[in-house]
Amino acid sequence: MGHEGPSSKMKRIWLFIIAITIHNFPEGLAVGVGFGSGDVGAGTSLAIGIGLQNMPEGLAVALPLLGLGYNKWKAVGIATATGLVEPIGGLLGVGMVTAFQPILPLGLAFAAGAMLFVISDEIIPETHSKGKSRTATFGVMIGFIIMMAMDNLLG
Ligand SMILES: [Zn+2]
Repeated sequence: MGHEGPSSKMKRIWLFIIAITIHNFPEGLAVGVGFGSGDVGAGTSLAIGIGLQNMPEGLAVALPLLGLGYNKWKAVGIATATGLVEPIGGLLGVGMVTAFQPILPLGLAFAAGAMLFVISDEIIPETHSKGKSRTATFGVMIGFIIMMAMDNLLG
């Protein structure tokens, strides 16, 4: 990474931002279908789980942009924009439960796969690059435990 030019770094960061934006769509769809199918409990727990994991995702978009020299309002604005596809997916999901319910598992598998790719290709190497690999690993473990616990407690 040290010998990487600024333009290839910028390209990498934008690819990452596009991946996050795309994967937000099925996430929104999942929440929409959850509420739209009439099960408010399922909709609520999905909304909480997906809302929680959106926070580090937003940070993961905003922080590299700051590193590229964007000012903080612009970085926050872009991070917010990547999240806007989520309520769009949500509205579509509520409105067309029967159309989207069958493809939801595929959409969510895609969202999970896209995030795993980004995490493995981008985030983990980045968090390990400044000698903080042990702290970063504990962060992954804690996040994993929280999401697994949520999955079982709320699901
Ligand atoms: Zn996500």
